[in-house]
Amino acid sequence: MVENNFYQINEIRKYANANKIPIMQNEGIDFLTTFIIKHQIKNVLEIGTAIGYSAIMMALCSPNLKITTIERDEQRYLEAVKNIKKFNLEKRITLIFNDALNVKIDEKFDLVFIDAAKAQNIRFFELFERNLLDNGYIITDNMYFHGLVHKNIKEISSRSLRGIVRKINDYIVFLKNNDKYTTTIYDIGDGIAVSEKK
Ligand code: SAM
Repeated sequence: MVENNFYQINEIRKYANANKIPIMQNEGIDFLTTFIIKHQIKNVLEIGTAIGYSAIMMALCSPNLKITTIERDEQRYLEAVKNIKKFNLEKRITLIFNDALNVKIDEKFDLVFIDAAKAQNIRFFELFERNLLDNGYIITDNMYFHGLVHKNIKEISSRSLRGIVRKINDYIVFLKNNDKYTTTIYDIGDGIAVSEKK
């Protein structure tokens, strides 16, 4: 990464931290970018832009990669627009401001990256698998949900967190039972699931 890019990426991380915006952990982003290079991914559909951090990191790792990314929160979307401009990546990163559950896209992608509302993972998977090319991959972040997925559910005091953890467990069962895909959950970052089309 050139020095100026490094500085700008650090600024985005600092902004995310200061404003409590959840962006991918370092280990997770390293895994994702290495995966893109290793599998020669040409285009990515990302669900959950936040402020554009992961989209920018993906674009920087592979000079011809194109990304379409969806965000429903207006303030985050506007911040992502600004960040993507700073890197002159407007031609390679297409931002969609909408609820992903209302978005219909015709294009097909080698990789769908799901990183939005964790309780909705099954819906995102079912909605966007139609956008996957043959031999494509679906990657989902936060399969451990900050370690809570491995906790006894009764020990989680917040009702809403218990609800999210239950939904992530349902998603794990959904992935394991999905005979159109082979899924591996990697013990990296906050847990990353890679589902490969059979
Ligand atoms: N991928 C980003 C990164 O690492 O830089 C982080 C994304 S953050 C974990 C999840 C984002 O998904 C939030 O900004 C949230 O507003 C957005 N989101 C959640 N549900 C969504 C939906 N149904 N449609 C679009 N965006 C959604």
